[in-house]
Amino acid sequence: MSSRGIVVVAGGGGFIGGHLVARLLADGYHVSSVDIKPLDEWFQVHTGAENRVADLSSLAEARAAVAGADVVYNLAADMGGIGFIENFKAQCMLSVLINTHLLLASRAAGIQRYFYASSACIYPAGRQDSPEVVPLAEQMAYPAMPEDGYGWEKLFSERMCRHFTEDFALPTRVARFHNVYGPHGTWRGGREKAPAAICRKVAEAILLDNSTIDIWGDGLQTRSFMYIEDCVEGIVRIMNSDIDEPLNLGSSELVTIRQLVDIVSGIAGLQPNCRYQLDAPQGVRGRNSDNTLIRARLGWEPTTSLVDGLAETYAWVYKEVSDAYAARVGQCA
Ligand code: NAD
Repeated sequence: MSSRGIVVVAGGGGFIGGHLVARLLADGYHVSSVDIKPLDEWFQVHTGAENRVADLSSLAEARAAVAGADVVYNLAADMGGIGFIENFKAQCMLSVLINTHLLLASRAAGIQRYFYASSACIYPAGRQDSPEVVPLAEQMAYPAMPEDGYGWEKLFSERMCRHFTEDFALPTRVARFHNVYGPHGTWRGGREKAPAAICRKVAEAILLDNSTIDIWGDGLQTRSFMYIEDCVEGIVRIMNSDIDEPLNLGSSELVTIRQLVDIVSGIAGLQPNCRYQLDAPQGVRGRNSDNTLIRARLGWEPTTSLVDGLAETYAWVYKEVSDAYAARVGQCA
């Protein structure tokens, strides 16, 4: 990893992948960014990278994508926020083909190191049924009872990485991301996660002069949210480390969804009237990241405060929402 080699970022047209490509280019790598979406739907297209449209669930396309590369980061998955993963379980599980074929292709191509983006959704639901959470530590993953669909796929794919390391000597690194947010991600359409959805709802309330916003659940469920810059920094640190066991990569700043709404509202200068939708998807009752292991092994953990990260995120989402409204008004004029 000391010499700057050729890096493949699978899912480079997505939220985290797009930011990772920017970071790797800035660090001097030759980057090949690969995604199934047409280029005009990528969240970011970096001209310094080779940008390739391919379906990485196909073994042939995975082989073509990693040919000649030194390192692979797999951030490609068919996923979204809780509304998506509760309703599209089979679709989420089919991402197993992406990781399986990328691992097979990487082994055949002699890839030096492979990164897999796992998730806090691998942790057993029974440890997350109260808002007063015990933060999730890595060893709590077993005995396993992950989030149905998406979580099982992530846990299986983690183990696949482990066994490719043990059986085939392919070095792998695995991070369990806890809710990542920031600019250049999904903010509408059904795959968006809570921070982007709340930013959008607050922006719409301001633009439409209607201060009532809908919140999924009673708003007392707890979560931690990691800013994208911390996520990318953590990915790079974990990839360059000698840690071949899964590591939590998340913030440990725990908030209720009501507190998240308050922070966004404070940034936007709005006093919203919240309408709580008790029958909407809510996921687990409480979840936080135990960062003991990452602190001990890397001497680092995510530190960006929610107030700072959400200020950046809200500004970006507000512009997206107002541009979308302006375009719609232009079409009607
Ligand atoms: P994203 O949806 O923005 O990016 C994923 C990208 O993968 C998309 O651009 C999608 O088009 C691409 N993709 C899907 N199927 C593909 C295929 N067959 N071939 C090639 N590309 C394909 O999601 P993200 O938030 O950037 O997440 C990146 C990774 O991190 C995913 O594995 C996700 O499960 C994981 N993760 C994300 C979060 C989070 O909060 N965002 C939390 C936990 C884990």
